[in-house]
Amino acid sequence: MIRAINGRGAHRARAVCDRCGREEVVTCDYARMSGGSGWAPNEAQVTRKMTGQGWAVVKGKLHCPGCEAKRKVKPMAEVQAKLQAGAAVPQPSREQKRAIIDLLQASYDTKAGRYLQGETDATLATVLEVRAGWVAVLREELFGPDGRNEEADALRQELEALRADIKAVEAVHAAQGEALAGLRGQAGRAEAKLSRIMTAVGAHVVRKAGV
Ligand SMILES: [Zn+2]
Repeated sequence: MIRAINGRGAHRARAVCDRCGREEVVTCDYARMSGGSGWAPNEAQVTRKMTGQGWAVVKGKLHCPGCEAKRKVKPMAEVQAKLQAGAAVPQPSREQKRAIIDLLQASYDTKAGRYLQGETDATLATVLEVRAGWVAVLREELFGPDGRNEEADALRQELEALRADIKAVEAVHAAQGEALAGLRGQAGRAEAKLSRIMTAVGAHVVRKAGV
């Protein structure tokens, strides 16, 4: 708030922090109060001076620089609290737990200690529209390891074998291509030779006939 300082020749006012009560005296103009007989400090002028020194006006209240800094920090603390609340891992409901366990019973081989063909925490989670982490926790607790590594290893081995097969077939294919090119070359040469012989034979026959 802004308080007038009364007294002869006083062209000053007191700016008071509405939060902590800190006061500061500033020089300012005075104007006659509307409809009244007294004089009042030019509040707009005082406010301009104070905001120039780091004070702030928030919802009509005057804040000193210290209180304004604290006010600005508080929303950050609130944001952090919200972030922490958001980071807390949500837990499945009873219904969701039962649904996960039901599907695990149908998808998990407890004797082998692994998922049945192709199933994973993620595939079950997708079917049930729940977090894969919830499936993983219940599976570990009630069923066993996901067995995903063994399956991946088996697939990797199969892939390696397939790649080796592909290389072998490609080598055979390349050799056959070379053989084919060789045969075509031979055929071409034989054809040309035949053509020459036929031409020579034709001329000879023509000459011998005396035509
Ligand atoms: Zn203050």
